[in-house]
Amino acid sequence: MIRDRYFEPDVETMPRPRLEERQEQRVLELVPYAYTNSAFYRELWDAHGVHPRDIRSLEDFRERIPFIDKDMLRAYRTKKGDPFAGLLCVPPGRLSSVTSSSGTTGDPEFFAEIWGDGPPLVSASLRDLWEVGVRPGDRVLSPSGTFRNLMDYGYQALGAVVVSADTWFGRMAETLELVRRHRPAYIQLMYPQLVELERLAHEHDLKEVFSSLKGASCAGQPISPRMRAQVRDEWGIELFEYTSAADTGTAWECGEHNGFHLWEDTVFAECVNPATLEAVPDGDLGELVATDLDNSAAPLIRYRSEDLARLSRETCGCGRTHSRMWVSGRRGDETLVDGRTVALRDVWQAVEAQPETVAGVFQIVRAQREVERLHVRVGYDPSVTEDTSDLAVRLREEIRKQTGADPELELHTEDELMATVRSVAKFPRVVKA
Ligand SMILES: [Zn+2]
Repeated sequence: MIRDRYFEPDVETMPRPRLEERQEQRVLELVPYAYTNSAFYRELWDAHGVHPRDIRSLEDFRERIPFIDKDMLRAYRTKKGDPFAGLLCVPPGRLSSVTSSSGTTGDPEFFAEIWGDGPPLVSASLRDLWEVGVRPGDRVLSPSGTFRNLMDYGYQALGAVVVSADTWFGRMAETLELVRRHRPAYIQLMYPQLVELERLAHEHDLKEVFSSLKGASCAGQPISPRMRAQVRDEWGIELFEYTSAADTGTAWECGEHNGFHLWEDTVFAECVNPATLEAVPDGDLGELVATDLDNSAAPLIRYRSEDLARLSRETCGCGRTHSRMWVSGRRGDETLVDGRTVALRDVWQAVEAQPETVAGVFQIVRAQREVERLHVRVGYDPSVTEDTSDLAVRLREEIRKQTGADPELELHTEDELMATVRSVAKFPRVVKA
């Protein structure tokens, strides 16, 4: 075991029985705490006839504590006019910060936090940054965004040097200049920036520009195998993807690139059948349900994330014992076309197969989940597109081949389509209009 691989070796490689003991202990503190201090949980649990004294083990917790979801929190927020949806367990003046999510799937969610040296989400990802290879003295390039951010505390805790610059969307040409000059070891990227870089790769030797990087992270949405291969083989960047851990924090890939690690000393993760709400066995697809173990301000308890994922509790090739998950989409992302299920990835594959739309910029447009005809909006790269009607014929044929549905196609340039994105980090794959 290479101890230097881990930031907190004892926690990261803790035997699972000890990890589970720790979770149980924390859950048994959390339940009475939330009942006493949060109006939302008290009302909900009372309505379900559950009292903290009934909860004496993780088994009781799984059996008795009701699930919650986004809609319940929204309803409470609207009814009571409480921005924290009744979750807040402390007087608002005791909070250290309120951060927000990227708002991909609707309005951003707000997260109340109390912290000392660093915000919980940031502190938990120090382990991941260490795994990427960030070490004291390294320079890191990070956009000074606001959502779930304040990342600077984390980089500084690692002893890294933050290069603060505007590396936001549309500024990748300037960012390349910065990378040439300051030689960072780590950079944070997002999907729209990868699409931008793809364009810039025609004029820049990206492998040479990025040769100082130990790794880069990318969050927000799944990256297609083709894009991933390009970033790795042509630009020479080891990309570490991460994703939301059901709004309780983040889950990152390790160097094995085989699943996202959930830090289970900070989250109690469950995976349930979305229809029956029964736990599914390891490896089966289910909805990720999370309980915050490190947020005493406004903890989420048995929160249904809407993320469909597979969980594995087996020790990873990196030696870490914390679970990994593979996310396969959002509950409700599939479209029913004339009774036939069309998965996003099938459309994605068809779009990627054409050279003009290889970046995979597309959306499914639908007013509701069940439609008579599949409507796909696709962004093409005008610099390599000669004949859009020829492209349309090929796209339609390929989508029909992959999905069995004859699509209605709408073509735009990639830039036009990217310009419609309101969310800060993610490109929405399913839109209403
Ligand atoms: Zn691992």
